[in-house]
Parts: sequence; C-alpha cells; structure tokens
Amino acid sequence: MKWMEFPREVLIGKNMLVKVPDVLNKLKISKKVLLVTGKNTLDVAGNRIKELVEENGGDCEICISEKASPEEVIKITEAGSAFEADCFLGVGSGRSIDLAKLSSKNCSVPFISIPTAASHDGIVSARASIHSEGKSESVEAQAPIAVIADTEIISKAPFRLLAAGCGDVISNYTSVLDWELASRHQNEPFSRSAAMMAYMSADMITNSANLIRPGLDSSARIAVKALVLSGAAMSVAGSSRPASGSEHMFSHALDRIAKKPALHGEQCAVGSIMMMYLHGGDWEKIRNALIQIGAPTSAVEMGIADDEIIEALLQAHTIRPERYTILGGGLTPSAAEKMAVVTKVITD
Ligand SMILES: [Zn+2]
Repeated sequence: MKWMEFPREVLIGKNMLVKVPDVLNKLKISKKVLLVTGKNTLDVAGNRIKELVEENGGDCEICISEKASPEEVIKITEAGSAFEADCFLGVGSGRSIDLAKLSSKNCSVPFISIPTAASHDGIVSARASIHSEGKSESVEAQAPIAVIADTEIISKAPFRLLAAGCGDVISNYTSVLDWELASRHQNEPFSRSAAMMAYMSADMITNSANLIRPGLDSSARIAVKALVLSGAAMSVAGSSRPASGSEHMFSHALDRIAKKPALHGEQCAVGSIMMMYLHGGDWEKIRNALIQIGAPTSAVEMGIADDEIIEALLQAHTIRPERYTILGGGLTPSAAEKMAVVTKVITD
C-alpha cells in the first residue's frame, strides 16, 4: 500500500497573508485555530494573521514557541486540546512550523504552514526536527494541509536563510544518487517519479542561481517553488529519501560535533559538494551554483574548524545506519581529508 500526503492548497506570492481566511473557509476549518509562532515572527506575521482570522469571524489563540523540544510539543498539544482547535497554523522559519506539525498530529487536526523564511524543506515536508539533550532528531509528523508563502515577508528575512534553503534543495542531487545506489546495491524500493521531482527542484535552483539575490520577491518565489517541489518528491516517496542522503548525514554529524554549527541547508550543501565528488559526479557545478547564490562552500565560510569537518565525514555513516549511501561502511581519515581538500572545503 502507498499513502501519499500532499498539501491541498499552495499559495506563493506577495501579500498572501490576507488569503489565510479564504484558505480556512475553503478547507472548512475556520472556527478555531491555534497559531504557533516565535517572538520575532509574532510581529512579522503572527499578530496580523490573528487579526485577519478574527475579522472573518474565526477564533484565534496564539502560542509563542520557545524551542522545538519534546516538552514544548506537549505544551502546545495541551493548549490545542484545551482550546479545542480545528486547525493549527505554524508561522515562522522552521521551529514553529515543526511544533505545529507535531502537536496538530497529536490533536488529530490539520495544520497550515505559513513560512516567514525559506531556510529548509521542513516548511512543506511531513517530518519535524525536535531537539533534546543537545541532539536533534527527525520524526514523522504530518504534511501541511496548505502552504501559504508570502514572498514579500520571505524576501525581507535575512538573505542567509534563503541561501541556506537553496542549499538544502541543491543537496537533492546527491540524495537522489544515494537512493539510486541503495536501490542497485540493496534492492531498496525506488520511485523514479519522486527522484525526478527532487532532481528537478535542484535544477530549478541551479539554473536560476544568478537570479537569486537579497531582497527580491522573485528570488523568494524561486526558492519556495523549489522547496514545495522537493517536499512533493518526499510525499511521493513516502519518506525523506529523495531529499536526504549522505550529505544530510554529514550535516547531522556536524550538528553533534561542531562547537557552532552552521545552518542546516548550508551544511547539507557543502556536504553535497563532497558527496558528489565521492559519486564521481560534477561537484564543481554544485559549488559554482552556491558561489553564485552567495551560500558558503567551505569550512571557513561556515565558521567551522577543518578538524570538525573531517570528524563529521568520519562519523556521518553512523548517523543513520539503515540508510544506505555512498559512505558505505565509512571513510578512512586520509580519504576524508583528501575529499575535503580536493573539493576546497578545507585548505591543505
Ligand atoms: Zn534538509
């Protein structure tokens, strides 16, 4: 059996917040909504959405999220059931969306993703990242019933976030190769259509890399469209496989090892340069696209020490051992160092 979950409504464009009541009406869930947001995004979008919902006869309660921890999920789930919410709205760059995703699932009601930044594909996926005791864990939640992306708000968020989102999508090139490898070596189920969609979303960013600039509505539009397509690829696959391979394992290893990790999308993209080298593919194409966008391509640019990069490369294969990738049973220290030097991630 195959179970695919897709958003029913996807709105991308300027001034899209005003469409929130229409979407709620269309989905027939307009009575009580619990809005999960952060302190900063409350002023950017949260308060405005509450006003819009109430002006249209709805009832909206705001829950300010602190961090994406299991305790916070329980707190928001309890708030949702006490309020008898019909629907959750996740308003923010990632944490609030992840919290809304999980707590709405706990309450057996849908959630709408309203990203205020486009820094990773979690804004459209069914998976959520939860942090506990210094570790981050990716857990299955539910896909949003709608995505409302206001590109004006997204284009005003720090550009570093948008560039990281583009990096997360570009890293699909190596996720897809890892998946193909797993299907050949281990007969893992493989979906050609999901792989094509993930690949196409990476192409969308690479082909428009020279158009992605700070403050542009059009750049936010390209990034969000690619993230939505990448999310759809995961929905078709029924897992994160098409958008998460060895480069994501490298990023998760860095999160554990680095004193000050960089952004998820930044780390995955740099990981993808190196993993593409291991696959014998065109790693320079990935590197050049990232340079054009203005995303980091080296340890120095990410603010991460060279030895932390090597250690993450050595540990990456242990992060998710059931997920077969080009890393196989692991790299030797000299191979790890060589790939990082050749791909200019670290200096000799
Ligand atoms: Zn990712």
